[in-house]
Amino acid sequence: MIKVITGKLDNLEYDARALIGAFYPGEEIEYDSDFDKQSRGERLPGGDGKAPESRDTSEENIIILEKIIDAKLPKNEQRKQLYRFLAQRTGKQLPWGALTGVRPTKLAMNAIRSGMTEADTAKMMQAEYLVSEEKAKLAAEIAEREITILKKGRGLNLYIGIAFCPTTCLYCSFTSFSTEKWGRLVDDYLEALFKEIDWAAKRFAGEPVRTVYIGGGTPTSLDAAQLRRLLQKIRDSFDLSDLQEYTVEAGRPDSIDREKLETLKNYGVSRISINPQTMNDKTLRLIGRNHSAAEVREKYVLAKELGFENINMDIILGLPGETAKDVEETVRQIKELEPDSLTVHALAIKRASRLKMESEGVTMAKSLPGTAQKMMEAASAGAAQMGLLPYYMYRQKNMAGNLENVGYAKEGKEGLYNVIIIEETDSIVALGAGTVTKRVFENGEIKRCDCVKNIEEYISRIDEMIDRKEKLFQ
Ligand code: SF4
Repeated sequence: MIKVITGKLDNLEYDARALIGAFYPGEEIEYDSDFDKQSRGERLPGGDGKAPESRDTSEENIIILEKIIDAKLPKNEQRKQLYRFLAQRTGKQLPWGALTGVRPTKLAMNAIRSGMTEADTAKMMQAEYLVSEEKAKLAAEIAEREITILKKGRGLNLYIGIAFCPTTCLYCSFTSFSTEKWGRLVDDYLEALFKEIDWAAKRFAGEPVRTVYIGGGTPTSLDAAQLRRLLQKIRDSFDLSDLQEYTVEAGRPDSIDREKLETLKNYGVSRISINPQTMNDKTLRLIGRNHSAAEVREKYVLAKELGFENINMDIILGLPGETAKDVEETVRQIKELEPDSLTVHALAIKRASRLKMESEGVTMAKSLPGTAQKMMEAASAGAAQMGLLPYYMYRQKNMAGNLENVGYAKEGKEGLYNVIIIEETDSIVALGAGTVTKRVFENGEIKRCDCVKNIEEYISRIDEMIDRKEKLFQ
């Protein structure tokens, strides 16, 4: 266990948590702001009762921020000081250096918008945030591409969350309820959702919709009739005449059939996701997905046959038991299918999912140094061979190898909604349990309001959910 004493630097706690956690993955870390405990005679773990000034901070298990960081420096410099201290202490470097935020491309985009070239932006990220050369170039390249993508139209961005999946994946950290167990609530859920849709239709009457994204969960967990009702409701409620993109996550191959795909097509859905996560059957079984790699291929071919011209596939790096070789094999098989875009996620495990995995006796991918990096290299090389370019990116806490999630796409097949949500350039009206609505003001200020995650509460408290949104947009 590592003890971190923040003292007067408690404003740095968020960054310290992110950086120290990244340098010591899996280690239990305890934070304490009370630097004066010692002078009151309390002993720190492993401590010796000496005054803090005379303590030896090289002790393995204690980091006293005030001893290593100059409180008078600006915050970014403090982060760099902490990073250098940890790098020296552990002998490691992190790909994203001292950057702790989840949206590194925001910085790059601001720099490019202020007139910097892509090359200078990459250099700035290396110098200012100690980002590796490779990642700095990636962020600058993506930011440049995002600026072009964001020029596509204006209007309302609508997110609709369907909080159901056929079964629950072992690592799931989303709002998802299995239809096996909760299927009886789907119709009530849709009724509540339709109430929210009615509110949004009235609130934004006359405003053309720019993007619709139906995610979850897995929207295709709905049966064909329910799916039709939902798509018809959207069609009846909004002006879709200027729609730039209509995405439905048909994520789980075990939730798709010909009838549902035809329904999506008939209602003008322009982009779908069919997500293998891995093409290794053993891993698919282990993580609780009810389908095989063969079923991924079968449903992909069916979607192509029905005329879908923009199909995304998601994969996850760092799944239990997988090595870089498994990722190479997954990428090789996906290459044969030639998807229009590929989203590469580095597994981020939340505490609840980790506990669930441990209780089921599942161990994580080998966390050998460099393994996650090798997986990422295999995925990005595969994407390049498929003719896909990186176009959006974000990071999460607790990501395997402290890496990032990257979306790659053929030119012109990028997901506009994905860029909008990551760069926070426009408001998103989000409906459904566990969703977060975001209002972006003219001056760049952002305000959010969320919907409860629990579907029973969502259904019973739907009027309150609508009120929250109404207040946000008043
Ligand atoms: S498909 Fe996605 S949302 Fe559904 S259980 Fe699996 S990880 Fe969770």
